[in-house]
Amino acid sequence: MGRRRHQARQRSQALAYRAAALLAIGAAVITGALIALSSAPRPRFDGTPLRIPIFPRLLATVDDAGRLEPLGMVIPPDAAARPPSWPPALLNPEARLRWGWDLSLGRPGAREVLFTFDDGPNPGTTDRLLPILARANIHAAFFVCGWRLESHEEPLRTRARQLLRDTLAAGHVIGNHTVHHYQLPTLPPERVRYEIEHNADLIEEVIGQRPHLFRPPYGAYSEDVRRHLVSKRNELWMWSIDPHDYLLVNDAEAVAQRIITNLGNHAGGTVLLHDTHPWSVAAMPKIIRWLERENASREQAGRAPYVVLDPARYLEGARTRLPLIQAADALANTNPPRARDAGSAEAAVEPTTGVVGEGPVDAGAPAAMDAGNTHRRMSMDAGDGR
Ligand SMILES: [Zn+2]
Repeated sequence: MGRRRHQARQRSQALAYRAAALLAIGAAVITGALIALSSAPRPRFDGTPLRIPIFPRLLATVDDAGRLEPLGMVIPPDAAARPPSWPPALLNPEARLRWGWDLSLGRPGAREVLFTFDDGPNPGTTDRLLPILARANIHAAFFVCGWRLESHEEPLRTRARQLLRDTLAAGHVIGNHTVHHYQLPTLPPERVRYEIEHNADLIEEVIGQRPHLFRPPYGAYSEDVRRHLVSKRNELWMWSIDPHDYLLVNDAEAVAQRIITNLGNHAGGTVLLHDTHPWSVAAMPKIIRWLERENASREQAGRAPYVVLDPARYLEGARTRLPLIQAADALANTNPPRARDAGSAEAAVEPTTGVVGEGPVDAGAPAAMDAGNTHRRMSMDAGDGR
């Protein structure tokens, strides 16, 4: 009896020691965290909140009372390097146009920005753009038209080839925008194949890498193009912010203003510019200055900043949009005026097939752009092939 009681006492003592040890460890952890917090520099008296990393991607502000307030998920600049897995896994394996548009919006509400430049490389403008991007540590996607790379004109051919190598060396991603920038839906299937694959050949010949991203000239799409992209496992990448820079001749200020307004309205997105226009190149420092000023004041107000992302990071963020796209598809399929079967029906409901003009929406004013987007989305979701 006494022996059993002794054993029981030993057991309860062991439990008590264990509990005390756990308590001590817990207290040490909490004390450590408090010390870390209290020894962290206080917010400066100009009111600028202090940003501290909690987890690698989560930033928070600390107020005067030492309370943490998360700012949201942001990608710190040192993580902007391209992940080793380029190209990333396909987001849109069926190369559906509507998915291409929706994915270009990026991570929902995240104020993440991807800059894309089409139609180059163009000596005289692309070479002025590259140092502007380098100074701001921006990595963009360049959708290249290869005709200059095989031009018989010199020094055009040599300079264009060198520019393409410089663009890749600066950390940008090279995408395919066809050789000659034709309206693909007007071409016979073998010519569509040539415009895409010969351009990929030219790019690969110059930089040793085959492009993974594809953007159709004018956003003009067809079932031929779609099938071809699927067979080559290319990622269809559209845009969500189009300032129509090709119409704003010599007006860098207007180009910048349209982009700035739409970045605000849409909480980030894929920006379309042309590195073939001097005024579009001249708009970039204005946009970058605005981003810096805007982020400083957002930070002061404890709001999540804009983050300009490397294409690989932006695509990975856009992956989080897939459930929304699939839910929209499911909704459209459960409410069928006309059932959509995959494949053949897809071509019939692509509403921007054969659209003329770079960009399907009018971004002339932010309201117009919103209206354009809504109309575009509504006509797509209606699935009636308008
Ligand atoms: Zn273009």
